[in-house]
Amino acid sequence: MVVKTEDGRELRSFNFKEEDQSQEVRAVERRVLLETLAGHLPQDTIQYSSRLASIEATPNGDTLLELVDGSKLLAKIVIGCDGIRSPIAKWMGFPEPKYAGHCAFRGLASYPDGQPFGPRVNYIYGRGLRAGYVPVSPTKVYWFICFNSPSPGPKITDASVLKNQAKELVRNWSSELLNIMDSTPDDTIIRTPLADRWLWPSITPPASAGRVVVVGDAWHPMTPNLGQGACCALEDAVVLAKKLALAIKSEDPSSVEGALMSYGSERWSRVFPLTVRAYLVGSVLQWGNPLVCSVRNNIVLPKLVKLGPMLEHTNFTCESL
Ligand SMILES: Cc1cc2nc3c(=O)[nH]c(=O)nc-3n(C[C@H](O)[C@H](O)[C@H](O)COP(=O)(O)OP(=O)(O)OC[C@H]3O[C@@H](n4cnc5c(N)ncnc54)[C@H](O)[C@@H]3O)c2cc1C
Repeated sequence: MVVKTEDGRELRSFNFKEEDQSQEVRAVERRVLLETLAGHLPQDTIQYSSRLASIEATPNGDTLLELVDGSKLLAKIVIGCDGIRSPIAKWMGFPEPKYAGHCAFRGLASYPDGQPFGPRVNYIYGRGLRAGYVPVSPTKVYWFICFNSPSPGPKITDASVLKNQAKELVRNWSSELLNIMDSTPDDTIIRTPLADRWLWPSITPPASAGRVVVVGDAWHPMTPNLGQGACCALEDAVVLAKKLALAIKSEDPSSVEGALMSYGSERWSRVFPLTVRAYLVGSVLQWGNPLVCSVRNNIVLPKLVKLGPMLEHTNFTCESL
């Protein structure tokens, strides 16, 4: 991993294995991850284009789901993994995610003849503005820019406008990121207001209600400052699958509800502290004060930061399935 200033000066470089033998970074393109996971399921398990329109509890504890195409599903168990704006979480009484004060642009640069970068995570720290890029395959490079904004701003769908806005933010930086952005197809660029939801005990609803449960961003949206949102969603899925498998095998009809509750309490102690920590890290990284940024660039990053303790949060053992 390499950390640089906006004018391209290298502040520090880290080797994950040297800092901590158990650590490595794997940058995975979302499409590849989803296709790989889906590829392990029997054919036709997933029904695509099934947008949920409404959800309703029935007297026997089943749940009636109505899709936007008008079709209805009567479900014994509902696992709501429908993202940060989850209609299922809303129905369960979760508050809307809270805007964190910064937004991110993301894009995927394409190099059909091969991308020229080494296998390194590159961070660039500016003032109230930070960016990064990392190769995700021999021909693709993922990049992001995170910037302060008092409000989430209007939704912009014109990809070329998004690209120009993103480029404008780093116009005066060294050209490396701008060149990567120039190799980025417009339609891969998105702008996301960053938001999270803090799961206060006794105030926020539990992860499950009866036989309906939420997973991933639907339950615990967190800011991406620790790079853990999707990782935690995968961990959730493994823990839930193990508990549900045991419950479904058991003869006790209430065991499914018990399994969902046990999933919620086990995962809460992992995801709540991470959500708070990600928010705090983001607040520090987005500081725009010139004096603070100078201390960060000249003292904290080059001399004080140790990578090992900063990666401790990524340690999680799922045990065997
Ligand atoms: C800038 C940025 C950078 C990030 N970087 C990282 C990182 O480095 N590492 C990391 O681990 N995480 C990262 N994350 C977080 C990560 O993207 C999320 O945590 C992750 O995508 C959550 O997965 P999910 O399956 O819960 O939700 P999603 O990926 O949002 O999937 C939700 C699914 O539900 C579907 N859906 C929504 N509404 C409905 C409906 N009404 N009916 C039916 N389906 C519906 C959607 O179409 C979608 O397919 C980052 C996030 C951002 C914004």
